[in-house]
Amino acid sequence: MIACQTELDCLYCGRPTVHTVFYASLYIKRIVCHRCAHAVEKPAAVLLRQYCRDLPWRATALARRLKHEAQADPLLFVSSLPRRVVNKPIELSRELAEVCL
Ligand SMILES: [Zn+2]
Repeated sequence: MIACQTELDCLYCGRPTVHTVFYASLYIKRIVCHRCAHAVEKPAAVLLRQYCRDLPWRATALARRLKHEAQADPLLFVSSLPRRVVNKPIELSRELAEVCL
């Protein structure tokens, strides 16, 4: 899970304060105020629905990217395939776990 800090207007403090934003895959999962510790969290069901909704688009974008890579440099593309075939399911499993947990 990726976390980054940024300044946001806190709903409780009512002023701009530093917040930590936690991402699950591509989606904001939780935001915590550093001043008052107030947290806003998106329910796992909502995150999962967003994740599943975006998967077909991501698969289409990946197919387009792979086609472009295969046309641009076929040898490099073929040599990278075994690693990608192994890594992509692992990556998707990690994303799904982040979204659901
Ligand atoms: Zn606050």
